[in-house]
Amino acid sequence: MTDPTPPAIPLSMAHLPTAGGLAVPWITPRTGDGRHLFGAVDADRKDQALLRRLCGVCGRRHDERLVLLMRLSDLPRQCTAEPALHPTCTAYTIAACPMVGGRLDHYRTTPQALDPTMIRPVDSPARRGAPAEPWFAVWLPGYTVITDHGALAASYAGSTPLRIRPITWPVSFLRMTRPASTHGPS
Ligand SMILES: [Zn+2]
Repeated sequence: MTDPTPPAIPLSMAHLPTAGGLAVPWITPRTGDGRHLFGAVDADRKDQALLRRLCGVCGRRHDERLVLLMRLSDLPRQCTAEPALHPTCTAYTIAACPMVGGRLDHYRTTPQALDPTMIRPVDSPARRGAPAEPWFAVWLPGYTVITDHGALAASYAGSTPLRIRPITWPVSFLRMTRPASTHGPS
């Protein structure tokens, strides 16, 4: 599903390649035949971004504030394997990415064909076809790099986020979490 009108690409992202009118994030892998696999992650660039404090979207160094895009299920663990983003790059991602922006009800049902250097979204087999989850923007002054399930991740455990802002609460998730129909007082 794509939006009919792609959002305007900020100047700070003008150096990125585009596909279908959308800026392609720096960590998005590209296949040998030139296709960009939105949603998948280039393993080497992901680690570079986490370790060198680079933005996962534009690939440039962070300023004093950064944002981690987190799913509801990531929040209790206070870490995510996906690199932090600039605030501007976050706003663009919310506008451009149908999953983060809450415009998809479910995760894709068929696996992407990846090259060996690419990694799927961390738990994609588990997510395949599952209802989309709510996303949150966690604003931070910084993060620490930890190893989580054998992979590098950005953690803010032990520090207080500047703020945690809900981005979306997908309709399918509301349906799923709504209490079973109750027989209330009539
Ligand atoms: Zn950026």
